[in-house]
Amino acid sequence: MMAIERLTILGSTGSIGVQTLDIVRRHPERFKISSLVAHSRWRELAAQAREFGVESVVIGDESHYAELKEALKDTTIEVMAGNEAINHVARSYRSDTVVNALVGYAGLHPTALAIESGKRIALANKETLVVGGDIIMAEARRKGVDIMPIDSEHSAIMQCLEGEQRRSIRNLIITCSGGALRDTARENLANVTPEMALRHPQWSMGAKITIDSATLVNKGFEVIEARWLFDIEPERIKVVIHPQSIVHSMVEFTDGSVKAQLGNADMHTPISYALLYPERAAEAMEHFSILDYPTLTFAAPDREKYPALDIAYECLHRGGTAACTMNGANEVAVASFLGHKCGYLDIVGAIRYALDNASFTKHPTLADYDLANREARMLAERYLTQKR
Ligand code: NAD
Ligand code: MG
Repeated sequence: MMAIERLTILGSTGSIGVQTLDIVRRHPERFKISSLVAHSRWRELAAQAREFGVESVVIGDESHYAELKEALKDTTIEVMAGNEAINHVARSYRSDTVVNALVGYAGLHPTALAIESGKRIALANKETLVVGGDIIMAEARRKGVDIMPIDSEHSAIMQCLEGEQRRSIRNLIITCSGGALRDTARENLANVTPEMALRHPQWSMGAKITIDSATLVNKGFEVIEARWLFDIEPERIKVVIHPQSIVHSMVEFTDGSVKAQLGNADMHTPISYALLYPERAAEAMEHFSILDYPTLTFAAPDREKYPALDIAYECLHRGGTAACTMNGANEVAVASFLGHKCGYLDIVGAIRYALDNASFTKHPTLADYDLANREARMLAERYLTQKR
């Protein structure tokens, strides 16, 4: 009989958060939720809090505190608001595992605090590792804390590496659907609207990562994420386009053998792997039939159409705050693009501008990342204002 594991879920109203709750719902004997955190959707948060009988909830946007408090007034659930409260539940002694499904830079400090207080991390927030992978992984090793990836590619690689020795790894091969614009010609990219870029062919996800998938910023981020998670040199991390999204990633070994992990394009599988490891869920949400996919295809990415991929490798080679700068500029530009305030090509334009103009710190602390993030956001704003 396993002890009940107490979870804190950061970003419970989002795409990953809601699917995490599906897994928890199926394993009441295994999990109990201590805290739930969301940004602004207080009604959903209140309903989740009641259903799972949590101890506390945090609404990031403090302007919804009163409504949330009112909605839960007949319960004993503690209601909090703001970033300090998010940090508080991330390190609270009342949980064993923190599922970080926040989006963007906002995920970095909660991950760092959860590690510092010795919690197991189930990590969807890839920006944590994009920005601070070096110190986050070092701190996790020092604390003896496991970081379980929720990102499907990294979950696939982790599954391929089970039982293998480090020295046998030749390359990691990350697959990429190609995003919403994979069939759009390079000359037509300037006219792409948010609506077009949001139509992801395979995965239904939050808006920010869907745009990141269309620019391949997401794939670049996943290369950076893999570099830190698996402690492997950037040159040995390859990206291949695989439009069917059935092979979730692969590992090539020194003897020429290649292992791949396959399955439906359904995030419930990597989420349940991260939460239940080393066990597996007894029932799949949906069975996978290889006969439904008689043709699986692979191609090299078009690096001119998708400059973000090489920019991510460039950031890895520069190290320090470079990837933090890329991430901060991207966040600003994606929000602007989603608000119809800039064009699709301005996203990579803003990243390039920020990287070319930002200051650089070779051995940053978490505080240095805050500064680099702020500077990158400011530079991206400046670039986008000049373009308007
Ligand atoms: P989403 O936008 O659907 O959800 C984000 C959640 O975080 C929401 O609950 C939102 O309320 C909360 N949130 C965002 N900013 C916050 C803040 N400042 N303070 C408090 N709460 C905040 O995003 P998502 O698609 O679920 O993605 C979450 C993370 O998982 C991202 O880092 C993404 O790259 C990663 N990821 C997602 C998928 C997917 O299938 N959706 C797959 C792989 C990785
Ligand atoms: Mg992914």
